[in-house]
Amino acid sequence: MSAIPLVLVGAGGRMGRLIAARALGDPRFVLHGLVDRGATVGTRLHGTASPVVHEDVASACAGAAQPVIIEFALAAATAATLQAAERCGAAVVVGTTGHDDAGRAALAAAAQSIPVLHAANMSTGVTALLAHLGALSAALRGFDARIVEVHHTAKKDAPSGTALALGRALEREAVEYASLRAGSVPGIHTVFFGGAGEHIEITHRAESRDCFAAGALDAAAWLAGKPAGAYGMHDVIRGA
Ligand code: NAD
Repeated sequence: MSAIPLVLVGAGGRMGRLIAARALGDPRFVLHGLVDRGATVGTRLHGTASPVVHEDVASACAGAAQPVIIEFALAAATAATLQAAERCGAAVVVGTTGHDDAGRAALAAAAQSIPVLHAANMSTGVTALLAHLGALSAALRGFDARIVEVHHTAKKDAPSGTALALGRALEREAVEYASLRAGSVPGIHTVFFGGAGEHIEITHRAESRDCFAAGALDAAAWLAGKPAGAYGMHDVIRGA
C-alpha cells in the first residue's frame, strides 16, 4: 500500500510538532502539508524538515490524493478544517478538545460525507478505560463518582475533554469534576468512586505526549480509505 498523504493542522503546537516528527520516520505516511497560523510557527517547527506551512487547510491538501488530516489545534479551528476536508475528499482525525454544541454538531454533520474520527484522548489506556467504565459505574451505584484531572498551565479548556468523556462513560445523572492546572503535566485523570468506608481510584497518567501522538497516527492509518461516518478510538484499538 502506498504511503498516506498526511496534513497536520496545528502543526506548530505541542502535539502538532510531535506528530510531525513521528510521521517523518513512519513509512505509513508522507508528510504532505502543515497548517498553522502566526509568525512564530516557522521557528517552532524548526527541525521537522518540512518548511512549507500553510494558513489554510485546502491549500495544504492541494495535490494530495485522498489525504488524511490530523487536527490538534483550537476548537474554533475545527469547522474550517472540516469544510476543507469535505472539499478535498479527505478523512479527518480530530484530537482537538473544547468544542461547544455547534462544534459537536459540525463534527456530526461532516461525518455524513467524509470519515471523521474524533477522540478527546488518543491513548490506549484511556480508550480502554472509556470502554469498560460503564460496567464499573453500574456495579458501584451507591458510590459517589468524581473525576479529577490535572494538566499543564497552558491548557485552554476545563474540564478536559477526556474528563468529560469519562463522565459520559459513567452514565450517571450527576458527576462532579475538579480541574487543576500545574506546571508541564501532559495529563492525569482520576475516576474516584467514594463509598461508605471504602473508595476506588482509577488513574491514567500520560507520562509524555507520545501516547497521544502514536494514537493519532494509528487513527490516521486506520481511517484512510474508510467510508464516511463518525468513528472513535475504540474502533482503532481492538479490544477497547
Ligand atoms: P498548542 O496550543 O500547543 O497547539 C495548538 C496549535 O494550533 C498552535 O500552534 C496554534 O497556533 C494552532 N492553531 C490555533 N488555531 C488554529 C487555526 N485556526 N488554524 C491552524 N492552526 C491553529 O496545543 P496542544 O497542547 O498541541 O493541544 C492542541 C489541542 O489538542 C487541544 O485542544 C488539546 O486539548 C488537544 N489534545 C488532545 C489530545 C488527544 O489525545 N486527543 C492530547 C493532547 C492534546
